[in-house]
Amino acid sequence: MKVTVTGAASGIGKATVLELLDMGAEVLAVDLPNSNLDYLVDSKGEKLFADVADQDSRNMIIDKSVGFDGLVNAAGKIEVKKLMDYSISDLRELFMINFESAWDLTSKIGATMPTGGSIVNISSAGAKIVTNSNVGPYSATKAAILSMTRTFSYEFAPRGIRVNAICPGLIETPMQDKVNNDLALSQGISLQEIVGKRVELIPMKRFGTSAECARIIIFLLSENSSYITGQSLNVTGGWVTH
Ligand code: NAD
Repeated sequence: MKVTVTGAASGIGKATVLELLDMGAEVLAVDLPNSNLDYLVDSKGEKLFADVADQDSRNMIIDKSVGFDGLVNAAGKIEVKKLMDYSISDLRELFMINFESAWDLTSKIGATMPTGGSIVNISSAGAKIVTNSNVGPYSATKAAILSMTRTFSYEFAPRGIRVNAICPGLIETPMQDKVNNDLALSQGISLQEIVGKRVELIPMKRFGTSAECARIIIFLLSENSSYITGQSLNVTGGWVTH
């Protein structure tokens, strides 16, 4: 299997690359210039430093991914601030990084995929539920990802290419650390208190791990999910059930 993974330097993307390499897959691991992809040394993983929000950089990713059978759109950015303080340029930036990039890579890499190919987009629990409005624009990008996932699944199904999404809940990654910090600051409480409050929302009473997301992504990439397309799987410890 040959798979392109964006957001490969950290969190869910990195965990996915590690699982893929363990399985013997070839991986194109993409992340921002200056990010750390050193873990790929001596592996079947190729590094590509590229900003998925930039068209020329995306073209490089697309050129290197021609004929691949897998794509994981994991690169993403979150912003936490009062809803009324978001500007239109904030909105555009989030849509460019989280949505436009996934659309373009899905469309152009999907167009060259052989039968049996599979694309996995990383949406979010925030696409389905609201527990605070401070991440509203981020959540909108993730809801758009779900719509896009359904649309491309319909488009590519006759060619035997599947497109699915996962909706992670609260997963321990550097992104989630930033959210916890930002929420603690905005609510004037300690990090420990905010983490405690958020864990209380989760029926399983814990955050998830990147590896737990990666295993679902691998399932969706693999033949084990050969009759599943256009779906979003929640990885939320029971927090989201629809
Ligand atoms: P992370 O911050 O650990 O990793 C994200 C990676 O994406 C980073 O390595 C970053 O450098 C890269 N990236 C960001 N902008 C980029 C760009 N323009 N071009 C290329 N790479 C870029 O975050 P994570 O938690 O592993 O998030 C992975 C995905 O999962 C994201 O799409 C995120 O929105 C989604 N998600 C995460 C959670 C969670 O709880 N952690 C929950 C729901 C959804």
